[in-house]
Amino acid sequence: MYTSIFKYGELPEFKKFTPENINTQFPLVLEKIAEDFKEIEKNLSNYLINNDLNWDKVINPLNEVNEILRWSWGVISHLNAVNNSESIRDIYSKFLPEIISLSNKFGQSKIIYNSLLKLKEINNFDQIKNRILEKEILEMQHRGISLQKNDQEEFNSISEKLGKLSTDFSNNVLDATNNWNLILRKNSEVDGLPERVLEMMAISAHNYLKKEGEVDIKNGPWKLSLDIPTYTSFMTYATDRNLREKLYKAFVGRASQGENNNSQIIEEIIHLRTKKAILLGYKSWGELSLSTKMAKEIKNVETLLEELREPAFKTAKIELEKLDKFSKKNGFPKSQNIQPWDISYWSELLRKEKLNLDQESLRPWFPLNDVLNGLFKLSEKLFEIKVVEATNEAPLWNDDVLFFNILNNEDNKIASFYLDPYSRPETKRGGAWMDECLNKNNIGKKTLPVAYLVCNQTPPSKDKPSLMSFEEVQTLFHEFGHGLQHMLTTVNLPQAAGINNVEWDAVELPSQFMENWCFHKSTLLNIAKHYKTGEKLSDENFEKLLKNRTFNCGMATLRQLHFAITDLRLHSNIDKNKGKTADEIRREIAKQTTVIPPITEDKFLCCFSHIFAGGYSAGYYSYKWAEVLSADAFSMFEEADLENSEDLQFIGKKFKDTILSLGGSLPPLEIFKLFRGREPQTDSLIRHLGLSEAT
Ligand SMILES: [Zn+2]
Repeated sequence: MYTSIFKYGELPEFKKFTPENINTQFPLVLEKIAEDFKEIEKNLSNYLINNDLNWDKVINPLNEVNEILRWSWGVISHLNAVNNSESIRDIYSKFLPEIISLSNKFGQSKIIYNSLLKLKEINNFDQIKNRILEKEILEMQHRGISLQKNDQEEFNSISEKLGKLSTDFSNNVLDATNNWNLILRKNSEVDGLPERVLEMMAISAHNYLKKEGEVDIKNGPWKLSLDIPTYTSFMTYATDRNLREKLYKAFVGRASQGENNNSQIIEEIIHLRTKKAILLGYKSWGELSLSTKMAKEIKNVETLLEELREPAFKTAKIELEKLDKFSKKNGFPKSQNIQPWDISYWSELLRKEKLNLDQESLRPWFPLNDVLNGLFKLSEKLFEIKVVEATNEAPLWNDDVLFFNILNNEDNKIASFYLDPYSRPETKRGGAWMDECLNKNNIGKKTLPVAYLVCNQTPPSKDKPSLMSFEEVQTLFHEFGHGLQHMLTTVNLPQAAGINNVEWDAVELPSQFMENWCFHKSTLLNIAKHYKTGEKLSDENFEKLLKNRTFNCGMATLRQLHFAITDLRLHSNIDKNKGKTADEIRREIAKQTTVIPPITEDKFLCCFSHIFAGGYSAGYYSYKWAEVLSADAFSMFEEADLENSEDLQFIGKKFKDTILSLGGSLPPLEIFKLFRGREPQTDSLIRHLGLSEAT
């Protein structure tokens, strides 16, 4: 008997999602979705004519068809990310255009739009439903649905042009990055580089030169290139200053000359974005972007960034002076000033001298199992939940994947999650993320939330379990924080449950909040035991980790602020910016946001893909915005008494009942205030980053 593998609302049976099965069955799913959609439009137009609309008639069928699409495409995208192969990649790119066109159809349907408007007009819903409705309507308006015919044509043609310009932009960055390299043959040229980096560079030289035989790590040749791992390692460790200068100039000048020049594309993108925003009734692209965010207004973002900028600038100046002194004491020419290509190198030497911290040597204290137990114990204490392993209960996509259930304090299952911990370079995308497998749904077929937590940490070896770096521990806590918001939701409407409907600049709150616990002494010391001897991590090593967190944080923060402020002003100060190029505007902003002004070759904007090819335009500030929220939320625990478990439990429950439970059901500021009792403040983050010492 024929049964479909697309059983939406259930845990996917991953092993049955073979290329053959997907290829034969997914088109049927898409066909069904298209039919359902037509049916919905037909029903809605009847309801509109008869003036017979209500929430259940409009929203529920739309939710159902959206969920079918999300679930089905979700499994395919998930496998594409964690179980990649040539055939799944082909499937993914084959169906992607169809998925895009389907979601455009939903997002640009006049009938749906009119039904939503009517619904809003005739009914008096509660705050949650109103919020869902308003956001849905606004999103459709941002797709140009309410424009007059002429304007709509112009809008569509601008959107198309912007799409193409973004692609050109990122292709130029990619080409410019790949086209540059230097083959190094002298040992002096790679002096200072760690073994791991030499190996990476020797292998890529070997492949690039199509050499036969063994790779020679010791004698080279080695390939120097502009990819991030090679670039950062070389800037941090290489003693050859001239080569560092050459590499730095190539890096910051990427895509700013010749056939890969992005300068003109940037001007065009900004110009067209402004035009698009004006067509939609906004003054600027920045205003349009902020209309869907927690920050709401440009001046709120400017205020927050300025509050951070001032102490960051002061601290960065002090850090630079210290670095200058240290370098001159250790052989840097006294007659010269430290240059941008010296910063990472001398910082690393100073870090070594000041902290004497070797992060690699701490791995034996962080075996995966102990870290998980510690994380679960912490969550149990704070949020009144139990985490129980249930790997044999669920279908998996890889033998290393784990599955857990979350129980409430009455031992009822309320959610589950997958954890795919290890890196598998051949088949798994890099980075770490949380994704929704199942959404909480109380309408129709009831489902509990299930999350995918995916990391890329060091796998176990023959005689060792997975020994995590401290950074990998933080990443796991981070993703678990996202997972908690997805899984502990109490919102019954799927459109606003978990991370759904949460504003972009507030979504990193729970994740960054959880990271803070890695720097909480008793939490970390309870976790960190040597995997062989059981010996606890020493106080001294903990202090080192703590100091490392704030080491040169002024310069790092200032850099982020430079990006955020530049992004915001490029997209908002329309009148002030007139007659100036983006590069000129950036250099003006740099006066207040850098301690060494950008050199002439530095055309950083030409490779600022986040804002010109990704989704971060007039939104790069979100990183810092959410960091302020999470630090301020954590400070509530610090103010109580981190060692008093009753206090912790009380505040933990409050955090669960507000930030983790309410998801996108209320405006994030309101939820924050329910937890914190007041509006967010920047001082906790300033203190956590060690920026207050300078003031
Ligand atoms: Zn995150």
